[in-house]
Amino acid sequence: MNTKQPTAALAVSNPAEQGRAGSVKDASQPSSRVAAAIDGAPIRIENLAKRYGSTAAVSGIDLDVRAGEFLSLLGPSGSGKTTLLMMLAGFELPSEGRLTLDTSDITRIAPNKRNIGMVFQRYALFPHMTVSQNVAYPLRMRKVPKAEIPDRVERALSMVGLNGFGDRMPNQLSGGQQQRVAVARALVFEPPVLLMDEPLSALDKKMRERMQIEIKQLQQRLGVTVVYVTHDQEEALTMSDRIAVMDNGRIQQVGTAFELYERPATPFVADFIGKMNFIPSSCMAVDDESVTVRVAGDVLIRLPQHHVRDGMSPLVGDRLDLAIRPERVRIERARQGVASSITGVVEARAYVGAFQWYVVRLADGTVLHVQSQSGASAEQGFDERQAVDITFEPTALHVFRGG
Ligand code: ADP
Repeated sequence: MNTKQPTAALAVSNPAEQGRAGSVKDASQPSSRVAAAIDGAPIRIENLAKRYGSTAAVSGIDLDVRAGEFLSLLGPSGSGKTTLLMMLAGFELPSEGRLTLDTSDITRIAPNKRNIGMVFQRYALFPHMTVSQNVAYPLRMRKVPKAEIPDRVERALSMVGLNGFGDRMPNQLSGGQQQRVAVARALVFEPPVLLMDEPLSALDKKMRERMQIEIKQLQQRLGVTVVYVTHDQEEALTMSDRIAVMDNGRIQQVGTAFELYERPATPFVADFIGKMNFIPSSCMAVDDESVTVRVAGDVLIRLPQHHVRDGMSPLVGDRLDLAIRPERVRIERARQGVASSITGVVEARAYVGAFQWYVVRLADGTVLHVQSQSGASAEQGFDERQAVDITFEPTALHVFRGG
């Protein structure tokens, strides 16, 4: 495989780069032939479940994907992302539930009748066909008149910045270029929905980051609805309008990157998106305005009632987990004999440019990660084994039921 060749940006063709890559037919006028728009369609998923014997791969999924939205399914391996995508594509039949594309019930419609494009993890190009033949394949399957095919293939290749590459064989392309061809093949019949299953996971980091931006730009320009599977939170945060976080076959929360980070609905989401500390506590008092909890042995913290999750209604004696981001924890030189401080000892520190990372062990053994802005002078830092006080705004805490 030739991985040395430059890759033209998706849809933002770069004639100079393509010139170096050779065999260019149409490098001077790429964007004029880019398809104007695809009418993205909404998808409704209702009470969807898939069981394999006694394994519930996916359960109780309700999700509306908006027309033209980029929605990612994000979760660890085995959380049910691929199973859900395969049901959308029609390669798996649901055990329960209903799928609607635009206004049609597609729950039991064959994959090739769904009008949905699909890009898989591996390139999945036909190795014995040229790039053009690969891209033409869905059109031939759909019995598109032969005379229309070359134009539509060239238009799809131009969308992904590969016009002029039609005569190459897949093994004459780099990994990134092969995945661009797969995207062109998935979009050539202008489907209202494009499904992508970890399409960038076989690429190196640099190419992956570049393709993330390019795929997102292409999706925005075309207006196609995308459902995108990934286990990489950074990828999901970079590309998506909204993200559905999955665990154990269920959607834990759907929201924008901001919502998931700032208002995680479950401890799983809190822990999975970004870094989170969990401080165990017990509920000591409850009144109309506040909930008072005890942490780190004997320090009391009053949380405003409105800050405690709706419907949680903690009672005296309940165990609660207080979650806080490392950047919301403040670390200070220990003040001796102040009973209301949470005290700890620095166990480890790392200097990471703009930040200092500290690992602090509290009196009750709880370990906290603290991200602190690096000060102007070195003596603002704290040393290993140094006693420190930990403070934070009560409103920076996310309150969950304790495990
Ligand atoms: P993900 O894509 O998030 O890694 P999957 O959808 O592949 O998760 O799998 C979800 C669960 O369903 C896993 O426990 C997996 O082992 C199980 N599973 C998936 N496909 C099958 C199958 N064909 N037969 C049996 N179990 C399966």
